Amino acid sequence: MTFSKFSPAPQLIESRTRACGVPGHNQFQQGLVEQFDGSWKPNTCPACRWQALYNTPKDRDEHLSAVADDAAEYLNLALIATGITPRFRGCSFDGYTTGDDKAKQRALSICRKYAEGFEAHSQAGRALMLMGEIGTGKTHLACAILQHVVRQGGYTGLIVTAESITQAVTDSFRGNAGPSKSDLIAELAAVDLLVIDEVGMHTAKPGKDFTPGLLHEAIDRRYQLIKPTILISNQKPEMLQDFIGPRAADRLRENGGLLAPFTWGSARSGGTA
Ligand SMILES: [Zn+2]
Repeated sequence: MTFSKFSPAPQLIESRTRACGVPGHNQFQQGLVEQFDGSWKPNTCPACRWQALYNTPKDRDEHLSAVADDAAEYLNLALIATGITPRFRGCSFDGYTTGDDKAKQRALSICRKYAEGFEAHSQAGRALMLMGEIGTGKTHLACAILQHVVRQGGYTGLIVTAESITQAVTDSFRGNAGPSKSDLIAELAAVDLLVIDEVGMHTAKPGKDFTPGLLHEAIDRRYQLIKPTILISNQKPEMLQDFIGPRAADRLRENGGLLAPFTWGSARSGGTA
């Protein structure tokens, strides 16, 4: 798994150099590793782990627990690498409150079905657009979809804002260090599911704002690779082309691209976003 500007690695705190005591094992950095659920877990000697995984009879408890630890560690890396911020890590389909509101129930149902049928959507490169007013739970449901496909399907995923793409590319023009624009576009194209949030949130400065061009490039690259993209916007669907370009808007609609409308009042105070 690669970590980058968009895909963070888990934080390691209270780290110190330690030796496990087994002859021949190197010293390692022991500390507390950030877990996706907000807890912190101490890491253990990598050589001991390797020994238990590959050099211990498969029916021994030591081996079985090392296999479980290894899988949990990989899942934690994959979940944190999605870029879902701590605020949205608890977001699930079940945690999305619809009450009796038919429009909310429909939005939830479209998102849940997209996640559950992701294998087919992935193969078809089928996009999903979550469009509607701010504070209606679009990011909540997109994060629930991302978590579902990473946890259940073993896919890689990433959520970024349109603004963060522009910022990353602007940074790449300034310094010599760090990824280039083409590295950044390649990274956005590499994950199995990309969510682009807050499209059209920021006022375009005619002639100066290169966000639409960048979004077009990222969406088009993923289209060429037949990889699905979820786009979140507070704009009306017919306005989308102003923010990503007409061709990218067509790309998203192609091949049965789905639209989930979020067209009711804001529910920011209700705990969804
Ligand atoms: Zn060891």
